[in-house]
Amino acid sequence: MIVDKQGRRFRNLRVSLTSACNYACTYCVPDGKRLVAQRDALPLDKLVTAVAYLKQATDLEKLRITGGEPLISPLFDGFLAAISQLSLQDVSLTTNGQLLERKLPVLLAGGVRRINVSLDSLDAAAFRRIARGGDLAEVLRGIEAALDAGLQVKVNMVPLRGHNHEQVLPLLDYCLARGIELRFIELMRMGHLARDATAFRQQFYGMPEILERIAERYTYRQADTALDATAQRFEIPGQGYFGIIANESAPFCRTCSRLRLTSNGWLYGCLSSSQRHFIGDLLDTPYEQALPALQARLQGALADKQDVAFAGDVMVMKIIGG
Ligand code: SAM
Repeated sequence: MIVDKQGRRFRNLRVSLTSACNYACTYCVPDGKRLVAQRDALPLDKLVTAVAYLKQATDLEKLRITGGEPLISPLFDGFLAAISQLSLQDVSLTTNGQLLERKLPVLLAGGVRRINVSLDSLDAAAFRRIARGGDLAEVLRGIEAALDAGLQVKVNMVPLRGHNHEQVLPLLDYCLARGIELRFIELMRMGHLARDATAFRQQFYGMPEILERIAERYTYRQADTALDATAQRFEIPGQGYFGIIANESAPFCRTCSRLRLTSNGWLYGCLSSSQRHFIGDLLDTPYEQALPALQARLQGALADKQDVAFAGDVMVMKIIGG
């Protein structure tokens, strides 16, 4: 078993299906360029082989498809259909929701039951300022359609001081009214924000402030969370739940079980490290022959995890897969 001295092992795989995105969120894409087509992605069969090999070599239970924006990838339908045959316990998706309504039949056919939709504001103008694209009404239609279809929906919001922090309560109201668990993600020092401490500090809006704001309207209490969960969960009795992924205020590296695979065949063991391990060269080799090298690269990825706290990295989230 591939396990480190803190007892951590890989149980959750995130696959960044494409680094291209139809948004260019200000905190993710510094140059504002949308839809930068990816030229070096692995073909579908190799990507599926990579997941199958990783499942065999680790204790993989869950897989989340992310990106970039996974729903714009031409590989999405085929990838989901193929991995739904791999007997994983859970296959989920993180999306900006722009194409959600259109892609729902594919998600349902592929056995997806849980999705996370990123939504930073219910104010159409602020939404477009942050996403530098997109159509709020289409995202909201996608969320309603997903709920109607019986999917479990979570909404991810990155609160940014001065840009959308006033949306903490409106978004929480919106989610509670629909039985959606809202996840506040503390801004991470990724990409350009890892280089620009001032920009990061100016926009960072952390867990204490989020909770203070919520307390203006709601009474909440801490709720149970899975041991390797990234989010701290809170219950608003009688109304629902929300969570905070507090990478800065309450780091969760000690229990992290995530492994990331990029669309061009690199493994990342930690969001907070540029260290990466190529496995694209192993995918034409039968599994038993590829295993020793695969294990060595997985050990390397596990060793990249931070001991305690998220330190940030210049890696761009849309490449590594948020
Ligand atoms: N396009 C999909 C989406 O929008 O959900 C999936 C990829 S996106 C990179 C995944 C998540 O990462 C989004 O919820 C986004 O808000 C978050 N994210 C990107 N950069 C971030 C940063 N610097 N700090 C915190 N969250 C970030």
